[in-house]
Amino acid sequence: MDKISAAADMIAQSKKIVIFTGAGISTESGIPDFRSPGGIWDRFDANAFTYPKFISSQANREMYWDFSKTIWPAIAQAEPNAGHYAVVELHRMGKLDCVITQNIDFLHQKSGVPEDKVIELHGTLKGVTCLECDRKYPREQIQKRLIGSAEKVPKCDSCGGILKPTTVMFGQPMPEWETNEAETRSARCDLFLVAGSSLVVYPAAQMPVVAKHGGAKLIIINLTPTPHDHYADVVINEKIGPVLSEIVKQARAKLKN
Ligand SMILES: [Zn+2]
Repeated sequence: MDKISAAADMIAQSKKIVIFTGAGISTESGIPDFRSPGGIWDRFDANAFTYPKFISSQANREMYWDFSKTIWPAIAQAEPNAGHYAVVELHRMGKLDCVITQNIDFLHQKSGVPEDKVIELHGTLKGVTCLECDRKYPREQIQKRLIGSAEKVPKCDSCGGILKPTTVMFGQPMPEWETNEAETRSARCDLFLVAGSSLVVYPAAQMPVVAKHGGAKLIIINLTPTPHDHYADVVINEKIGPVLSEIVKQARAKLKN
């Protein structure tokens, strides 16, 4: 049996599927992998964008917000691709427990996965928060302020505090609720499917192991090999969109027969 058919069988037989996604699913929507060298990093230094530097240096915050202002339109306008819609189809089939994502582009929600089924491990670019009083702002509103004025670092309207996007920066602790929830869901699913993550950074690296120990099957779809391939029941090294669509299509056909 080929790998796609084997993966489709596993989906057809599962009731609680956890989908784990990383940058690889969003590159097909034109969003670059911000952790990879090249492109945007020729203009900006990724090493400058750590949480300790952001909170301690005005110059660093100016650089960060200049970067954020530059990339925001591409993120805001990006559309979900076939990979995202295949996940929505699993939700419609009643098989999706949740999506755990490392992505900050909210394309899963845009594609139609209910918000309460998406766990964002690295936060989201959609929001901005005040580090002093915790007031929240929509990112789009802050973008208008940055473009329409000489303001280089936006300040909180309520308290004048530092504003920061609601993403998890390098050097910032992982969000506790999301990390715990992701582990709990991974432990009790019956199928864990990785789509577009190299599974190298914590806690991503640990979730497939948690799922496997809980008795789940493991499918990994990623362009390149991952450190967990030896645990997996099926490994497919191809682009996410076409492969995942085909797997879900075949799973649906198997259920109808
Ligand atoms: Zn404030």
